[in-house]
Amino acid sequence: MSQAEPNQILLNVKDLHVYFGAIHALKGLSFHVKKGEIVSLIGANGAGKTTTLKAISSVTGYKGDIEFEGKRLAGLAPYEIVRLGVAHAPEGRGIFSPLTVYENLMMGAFTRSDKKEIEADLEHCFTLFPRLKERIEQRAGTLSGGEQQMVAISRALMARPKLLMLDEPSLGLAPLIVKQIFDIIKKVNSEGTTILLVEQNARMALKVSHRAYCIETGRITLSGLGRDLLNDDAVRKAYLGG
Ligand code: ATP
Repeated sequence: MSQAEPNQILLNVKDLHVYFGAIHALKGLSFHVKKGEIVSLIGANGAGKTTTLKAISSVTGYKGDIEFEGKRLAGLAPYEIVRLGVAHAPEGRGIFSPLTVYENLMMGAFTRSDKKEIEADLEHCFTLFPRLKERIEQRAGTLSGGEQQMVAISRALMARPKLLMLDEPSLGLAPLIVKQIFDIIKKVNSEGTTILLVEQNARMALKVSHRAYCIETGRITLSGLGRDLLNDDAVRKAYLGG
């Protein structure tokens, strides 16, 4: 893991509320991510983790304040948020099945025009995931689940983000692939990208995270260092199987 830079808050979420009709999905969430950190949001199904990332990406409306590098994100379009340096690999991967691996990755660079740098970032993705280079012309819909997750992470990296948000990257993957994905998350972070991770696999998430927040029915119930939460009795009971 890279060193977090003390006091340099990259993302600041303050009193976040999200409503879906009568459902009050987020009930005043406040948390922050410092430059250089890996921060996890852990919690059960339906706790509000995905909704939190969607609010940051401006895919869903909200009340409260979200600031990135001190700039308020309210009212910005999703592509403007990408342009500021926030990329999102969504739950379910959101890849474009009929398109090739190459085309999917290039979609991630849609806000950029620096051709040479884009080529360099593509090569960097292939260094992280050599399997994708072998499958560059393959339609993404025919890839395995693990390979599709590699595409989702690489596509987000192609935006060259300062903050990479990953929603359930381990979902539905075999343990060996999960380990590979988490190794890559650590590597990407050690190369300087700050990471906000949403996971139901709390054990893996806490192991790689500098800090984490537990979310229960739209509220943060606990927060702390990843390694401390791994040993916390309440966390063990609720999220780590006792
Ligand atoms: P999961 O891991 O299952 O995705 P989560 O913690 O990410 O869980 P969210 O998907 O953020 O949870 O959902 C939080 C709450 O908001 C849930 O009660 C969910 O049913 C509700 N919700 C989410 N999206 C919508 C929507 N578009 N319309 C209505 N309710 C929604």
